[in-house]
Amino acid sequence: MKIYSPQLIDAGDEVKIQTTFECKQGTKILWYSVDKNYAKYLTTEKSDAFVVGLLLLAMQNNEDIYIEGKMSEILYYNLNNYYIKLLSLSLSNLNEIKIFPKELDNGKSYYCKQAVGTGFSGGVDSFSTICQHMLEDTPESYKITHFLFANVGSHGEFEPEKAKNLFNERYDLLKNYPEETGRNFIKLDSNLSEILNMKFTHTHTVRNASSALLMQKLFSKYYYSSGYKIDETKVQLVDKVSNGSIAYSDAIAQKYLCTETFSFISTSLQLDRVERTKLISNYEPTYKYLNTCVKDGTNCSTCFKCCRTIFTLQLLNKFDKYKDIFNLETFNTKKNLFLASVISDKNSIYNREILQLTKDTGYKFPFYLYILAMYLWIFEKFKNSLKYTIYFFLDQNKIRKI
Ligand SMILES: [Zn+2]
Repeated sequence: MKIYSPQLIDAGDEVKIQTTFECKQGTKILWYSVDKNYAKYLTTEKSDAFVVGLLLLAMQNNEDIYIEGKMSEILYYNLNNYYIKLLSLSLSNLNEIKIFPKELDNGKSYYCKQAVGTGFSGGVDSFSTICQHMLEDTPESYKITHFLFANVGSHGEFEPEKAKNLFNERYDLLKNYPEETGRNFIKLDSNLSEILNMKFTHTHTVRNASSALLMQKLFSKYYYSSGYKIDETKVQLVDKVSNGSIAYSDAIAQKYLCTETFSFISTSLQLDRVERTKLISNYEPTYKYLNTCVKDGTNCSTCFKCCRTIFTLQLLNKFDKYKDIFNLETFNTKKNLFLASVISDKNSIYNREILQLTKDTGYKFPFYLYILAMYLWIFEKFKNSLKYTIYFFLDQNKIRKI
């Protein structure tokens, strides 16, 4: 794969930063766009964001990367020696490759404004990071100054038009919160998902790091909310038919995605999901802006994330504060099925945390839920056997979309 130097393209109210690259699939363009007010912060001096964004594709293609320009020396060292290895151990369809930049950058070719950024989705992890980095005891240089809202897969990875609609809808739902707190909210669109065509849960760390690395003239620190607690950190195989997540290795990956002027910091590592929910439930803006849904713009109150959050808030005796943003009646139609799935799948860390909370708070499951849980367990076993059977007959590309 050959990656050319980034270019800025004027697109009316927005500005695009893009690069042309050549790979097995032909000559293509990877682009990101932001409001033109942020044009001065886009890093055109080097290709870091594009190298990270295209890394998975190059590894899948088994193509070394040749960069027709500069990249960060630190990033180059860490990707080549460690991060590529970590990714190849996490996703079986990825190959170990090498990166060959024409020139290395030592961070002195541009000025960084020393801003502190984080992604803002309105979710539990996102607000947990905010609670820990905006309150009074946060050192000044660690306080969040900017929020980033990127269209790089979290709104859907395989249907670009649908993802873009959800991206716009969610942005509109959330945009008043940064305004109320006096922070900038940067909306960043991209065609990265179309280029990668890979499952988001397997690849989100790289996608989000890529979008943050675009603005190295703005951010000196960028917080990325970890999906798991630090003692759950591991490098594990997450593809094939497993329901694994690359997030288990976030605490390891963070140091490999830094540059001379940019720190990618994995946050909330000291708290499990229940502790994070407890923390944010004392933060008033969450009563209006908490958005946990994996399905819709507003909280659907039926998807696994909505259900998990509602039930946790109920156990913590905090749900009343959130009654305007979740629909309790709708949740109650799914509650039994959700609780049975929690009882039946103790492999899930999140379920184990909820079960512990039920013990701590004295909550008793009705007996019939244990019977329902047993049926669910049998059904899941059958479904997994079927998935593994299919795996032997389909290729990796098809399997990734299962
Ligand atoms: Zn939902």
